[in-house]
Amino acid sequence: MGKVTGFLEFERLEEGYPPAEQRLKNYKEFVIGLTPEEAKIQGARCMDCGIPFCNNGCPVNNIIPDFNDLVYQGDWKNAITVLHSTNNFPEFTGRICPAPCEAACTLNVNDDAVGIKSIEHAIIDRAWAEGWVVPQPAIIKTGKKIAIVGSGPAGLAAAQQLARAGHEVTVFEKNDAVGGLMRFGIPDFKMDKSHIDLRVKQMEAEGVVFRTNTLIGEMPKGSKVTNWATTTISPEQLKKDFDAVLLSGGAEQSRDLPVPGRELDGIHFAMEFLPQQNKINRGGKLKDQLRADGKHVIVIGGGDTGSDCVGTSNRHGAVSVIQFEVMPRPPVEENRPLTWPYWPLKLRTSSSHEEGCEREFAISTKEFIGENGKVTGVKTVRVEFKDGKFSEVPGTEQVLKADLVLLAMGFVSPVETILAGFGVDKDARGNAKATTEDDGGYRTNVDKVFAAGDMRRGQSLVVWAIREGRQAARAVDQYLMGATTLPR
Ligand SMILES: Cc1cc2nc3c(=O)[nH]c(=O)nc-3n(C[C@H](O)[C@H](O)[C@H](O)COP(=O)(O)OP(=O)(O)OC[C@H]3O[C@@H](n4cnc5c(N)ncnc54)[C@H](O)[C@@H]3O)c2cc1C
Ligand code: SF4
Repeated sequence: MGKVTGFLEFERLEEGYPPAEQRLKNYKEFVIGLTPEEAKIQGARCMDCGIPFCNNGCPVNNIIPDFNDLVYQGDWKNAITVLHSTNNFPEFTGRICPAPCEAACTLNVNDDAVGIKSIEHAIIDRAWAEGWVVPQPAIIKTGKKIAIVGSGPAGLAAAQQLARAGHEVTVFEKNDAVGGLMRFGIPDFKMDKSHIDLRVKQMEAEGVVFRTNTLIGEMPKGSKVTNWATTTISPEQLKKDFDAVLLSGGAEQSRDLPVPGRELDGIHFAMEFLPQQNKINRGGKLKDQLRADGKHVIVIGGGDTGSDCVGTSNRHGAVSVIQFEVMPRPPVEENRPLTWPYWPLKLRTSSSHEEGCEREFAISTKEFIGENGKVTGVKTVRVEFKDGKFSEVPGTEQVLKADLVLLAMGFVSPVETILAGFGVDKDARGNAKATTEDDGGYRTNVDKVFAAGDMRRGQSLVVWAIREGRQAARAVDQYLMGATTLPR
């Protein structure tokens, strides 16, 4: 274990940020990772618990006590080997994972959790800097061809595992760069896209072929889902050309707010707004970028996507930014004896909130108000959550000024026409229907078609997508070869 008395001697140290005024000047990633010496001290805080709850709390089951100890011992090379044994892309999770492992850490019961995410971040950044992350091409090729539809973390994790098992893997992506929501969705200031580019290079050297701007199937007419495809391939053709197909197209159908006035100009889905800025940041051109400069912005939805809209609007130069959340304001501190080791309900204040945002809780939108076809305000009412439903609080209606409204209320399901094109059955929530069993898991009702990530489990997290991609790779390998040595 780290240092036997480390958790008594050392305090948790958070990663640093430059001040908000500086961050707001550009879209650059700004978190300042731990130095090797700081990471070592943080590793020393780990108690190497008999039952490491962190390991269970982590969706990819990272072997956390072992890499904490290796960092404490200064053995960084073995630390990255341990980390990579369960997680293909720690540079993504070390930056943008909400870290359920830390919520589950035993120290979190009555102290501050081990800074697991910051240690992970330090390990992988050091590994890239030292040149320890190299391609691992398969020595024996199987001659089996696999198509992966969608290049988000689920598709990428599956592609890497399957290429390393010796298969010929092609990843199809309808947008003009690889990475899914990590590329077009999550702002550059949360994760610089060069981290994805480095992995793409590694995977190409491992034999993975990427075909961007290529849509598999059809998008519904008038769909607002980002689609920069210039080529279309039918599901039938794909099934003919490949021995197995993995659907990892995400859950891209945004939740709408069909209240009066929704048709007014100036009301957009978060996922119309955010990808455009990602595209501009990578040197792309857009005729009419959706911008927040000089506008009063209202973001409807209190989660991560909403917070990303706040950060992007402030970088554009919005006059004011208000974020709505329908649920009541949660407590600042969680009730640890009640919630540990699970994900606690508490007020989460992101770096984007700190950059400037008014947060309204227990508020619901009744109507969008407009003039000359353009939104000018939002009519709201306070709500109470009682007996399992929301009710309006009489006399609390008000109109708030808005020139731009961003809808960030989550995603309802994958795009229906994509699943329909393959004839894949849906579950009750409209996701691709497939279990996660070891035997027959990730298989849809259609022969040789598998599904993983948000497309199967619904809107979730990068770390869950990586887990599903890895497990689906094992299922595909088992299906094609009759046996597999890929980890579960
Ligand atoms: C704004 C925003 C912020 C987020 N922030 C975080 C965060 O901080 N931390 C975190 O852990 N999670 C975050 N998430 C959630 C996380 O990004 C997703 O859970 C994760 O990316 C899902 O991975 P995936 O591989 O299943 O799908 P996706 O990342 O959605 O990738 C699917 C890809 O498939 C492509 N595709 C779809 N259909 C087709 C088709 N028919 N043909 C070709 N290509 C197709 C899409 O273009 C897309 O690139 C955030 C999500 C959003 C929207
Ligand atoms: S639960 Fe916390 S203290 Fe225990 S092994 Fe995991 S990281 Fe270390």
